[in-house]
Amino acid sequence: MVDWISIEKKWQKRWEEEGIFEADLQPGKKKFYVTVAYPYPNAPQHIGHGRTYCLTDVHARYLRMRGYNVLFPMAFHYTGTPVLAMTKRLKEGDKELVETFLDVYKIKREELPKLEEPMGMAAYFHEELKQGMKEMGYSIDWRREFTTIDPAYNRFIEWQFHRLRRGGFITQGSHPVGWCPGCGNPVGQHDTKGDVEPEIAEFTLIKFEYGDHILPAATLRPETVFGVTNMWLNPTVEYAYAKVDGEPWIVSQKSIEKLKMLNRKVEVERVFKGEQLIGKKAKNPMTGNEILILPASFVDPGNATGVVMSVPGHAPYDYVALENLKGDSSLRSFGLRPNEVKAIDPISLIEVPGYSEWPAVDEVKKKGVTEQTDPRLEEVTREVYSLEFHNGRMKSNTGQYAGLPVQKAKDYVKSDMLKEGKATTMYELSNRPVYCRCGSECIVKLVENQWFINYGDLKWKRLVHENLDEMEIIPKELRSEFEYVIDWLNEKACARKAGLGTSLPWDRSWIIESLSDSTIYMAFYTIVKELKRTGVDAEKLSDSFFSYVFLGIGSANEVAEKTGLKAEDVRMMRREFRYFYPLDSRHSARELIPNHLTFMLFNHTAIFPKKLWPRQIVGNGMVLMEGEKMSKSIGNIIPLREAIEMFGADPLRLSLMAAAEILKDGDFSPALAKSTAEGLERFYQGAMEVAKRGHGKRGGSLEKIDQWMLSRLQSQVWEATGAMEELMVRRAIHALFYNLNQDLQWYLRRVAGERNNKRRERTIQWVLSRVLDTQVKMLAPFTPHLCEEIWETMGNKVFVSLAAWPEFRVEEVLTDVEELESMINGCLEDVSNILKVTGIKAGKVYFYTAADWKWKIYQKALTLSKAGSLDVGTLIRESLKDEDLKKMPEAVATFAREIAEDVRKLPEESLGKRLTLGTFNELELLTKAAPFFEAELATQVSVQNEGDPAIHAPEGRARRAKPYKPAIYIET
Ligand SMILES: [Zn+2]
Repeated sequence: MVDWISIEKKWQKRWEEEGIFEADLQPGKKKFYVTVAYPYPNAPQHIGHGRTYCLTDVHARYLRMRGYNVLFPMAFHYTGTPVLAMTKRLKEGDKELVETFLDVYKIKREELPKLEEPMGMAAYFHEELKQGMKEMGYSIDWRREFTTIDPAYNRFIEWQFHRLRRGGFITQGSHPVGWCPGCGNPVGQHDTKGDVEPEIAEFTLIKFEYGDHILPAATLRPETVFGVTNMWLNPTVEYAYAKVDGEPWIVSQKSIEKLKMLNRKVEVERVFKGEQLIGKKAKNPMTGNEILILPASFVDPGNATGVVMSVPGHAPYDYVALENLKGDSSLRSFGLRPNEVKAIDPISLIEVPGYSEWPAVDEVKKKGVTEQTDPRLEEVTREVYSLEFHNGRMKSNTGQYAGLPVQKAKDYVKSDMLKEGKATTMYELSNRPVYCRCGSECIVKLVENQWFINYGDLKWKRLVHENLDEMEIIPKELRSEFEYVIDWLNEKACARKAGLGTSLPWDRSWIIESLSDSTIYMAFYTIVKELKRTGVDAEKLSDSFFSYVFLGIGSANEVAEKTGLKAEDVRMMRREFRYFYPLDSRHSARELIPNHLTFMLFNHTAIFPKKLWPRQIVGNGMVLMEGEKMSKSIGNIIPLREAIEMFGADPLRLSLMAAAEILKDGDFSPALAKSTAEGLERFYQGAMEVAKRGHGKRGGSLEKIDQWMLSRLQSQVWEATGAMEELMVRRAIHALFYNLNQDLQWYLRRVAGERNNKRRERTIQWVLSRVLDTQVKMLAPFTPHLCEEIWETMGNKVFVSLAAWPEFRVEEVLTDVEELESMINGCLEDVSNILKVTGIKAGKVYFYTAADWKWKIYQKALTLSKAGSLDVGTLIRESLKDEDLKKMPEAVATFAREIAEDVRKLPEESLGKRLTLGTFNELELLTKAAPFFEAELATQVSVQNEGDPAIHAPEGRARRAKPYKPAIYIET
């Protein structure tokens, strides 16, 4: 058993003692600056976090070995509601949270009171997270660690916001924001359960008339007002007559609070059950049509006004609900006459090529949906919406809008109705319900005097597109997501009234929130080490200090005078920033594209000149636990530090990295980690044997099989290096670990019989240690501790973490040698398969290599195939041009028929190799391999040529021989 933990501890200590991951300015040496999002210290890490951070570390380690001066720093994000909300839940004794802390994360009960205070919690998890990162072996420069409430960081954020404001990127006003009524704060993705970004949509409220009152029907498709056949109210929920900004409205009781949050003046006059209006009539303000008010259980009183118009021709829900109702026996209880409902037909107002008059009806029937509770209705609705939006045209029954594409009509109808007072608008979350971490359902609030970063600024968006166009996005598929988010972003509330963090420098009653104070902090890492060393008083770090260090505005002497720093220290900070900036790579889970990652681009383009904009973003998928999303409710979360204890950091790292290619969700399981650990253990044992015996000197020239091993090694170096350049780590691991190990196993089998020969043994050991040397280096970014241990045993004095990544040696790739070896492999497999299938026990195995004349035909077939003109007729014709072959036309024809198809099916690569190889002495090759076959098959082996007159070949077996495919005969 390998004692992972003690090996890991040993090397973590050595790395730290020698400070090998501490990156300083090194003039003339190329640098690589990589960061990953700093964590919120409000919970321990679980193995899901392990993937993103581990990939960043693998990237950092790989580039360090490629000769870069790599900076990989880490800090902790104390700011905002994530810590605050967690302490609040804990204080309130939230059962689920307490259980998670105690049972999943094994936090001691006596620690809990300390965690009820924001600073107590942050400090506790800060330490916990940091320990986990160290135990994973991340190659972080810990001298640059900070928290976002450090005074110097606060000054830095103040400087950033002054720059933003001066650049015109900050606005103030009334804007809709996602809001938690429980916390009294704006909410973003990081504040909600399940990390959902609250998405705000503007609904059109069409003012249908009911007597003197208004029934404001909420819709995202105002253009369909011409197809309304009836209204829907939910008979079982409470509605209210209310004066809304002076107008008499009828809305759901649930919408009252929301309307107030949107700054409408609301006075409720009377509350009643929806059923009271069922069967009554309302009037469509656009068509003047009188329509029935009908009952519908699908109407959600919590969605906008709870009043819905029905357009069955174009809205699948409406169609299905109407059809359901036609057969409903309870109609009479609402005072409705069944015939009156049955008479309602869908109205067609949009034409879509390829569909009937009513696309909604088509789609519902196609999917076979019959119930309004069918969850597929959601999907059908989206489809019809998109279909009509992109391909639909308004029909003649829509008056002045007839002939317009739906895309345009939608806006025209809306703005006309607004102008004529026939409609108004209401903000609502389009992805509701969204819940705050505190448990309250989030709503939309129109906040007055709120401060915003104006990500809606079109000129600014152009800059960000410019940045995006020039940067590398890994994987490429994510680029379009960024394009979309850049265009879609709008004003973002950037400050709150509560929480930890930096106060807004021009209005101290606001605290800058956590997605706004984490956009350019990568710059801060480059100087924080010097700030700590000089012990400068943070109070003195004025804007002019940061403007000089980051933008070169002003002079070092002036700044030195103001801050009390030495001018040379100030200059040093500027030099260090200029050396490490721009940021070369930003890693993150892809979930952060809609906010953090895109905000980072926006803020960099606003603050820094173009040459300092970020160069690369790497986004990765999630980690699934045995196929399921990790969640507290399923109880399948494994805390990172517990996993390290269970499996060891190296096996954990390797299984996380090998589980999936970058964008896919990686499926982790304890079984996977265990089998990875076992595989690593086998590797380690074999490697240590080779390592202990040392490099040594070759015992003579290389045999073909040695050349084969070194050639395979280079092929894997090529494959792994190419994969690493694109961060396709799964592919890399397969090449440098699994496939290379397989090659090694084959090599060891092939030379097993020669190891008693001292000279051969010296050469074999030399080959093995060369392979190991290369393999350990390639494996080091993934399992660094284990590799250091082997590397040291091999007699190396420097760390493998600092060794050079293997160079690809093209001259050692011998494709012909590989091709011949794969033939030997094929022979062995063929015999093994026969023995396995027939169950016979071999007395003796005969291989018959093809006669010379067959090789002639084979070569012609290869040539023809390369030229793309291989068919049996041509092959026979071409062959018979040969003087010798001419004498045996029948045999030629038979054989040509046999091989034409084989050769045509040959992969391009093999075809090329075989053409280069030409005719070779197959008999000699196999004869040399005979001892190996005998050892593997535990029986006698004889190799003969088909053309040998003294051949022993019962049943004419030898006639089946083909080039590269010797015939086989097994004697029992
Ligand atoms: Zn809340």
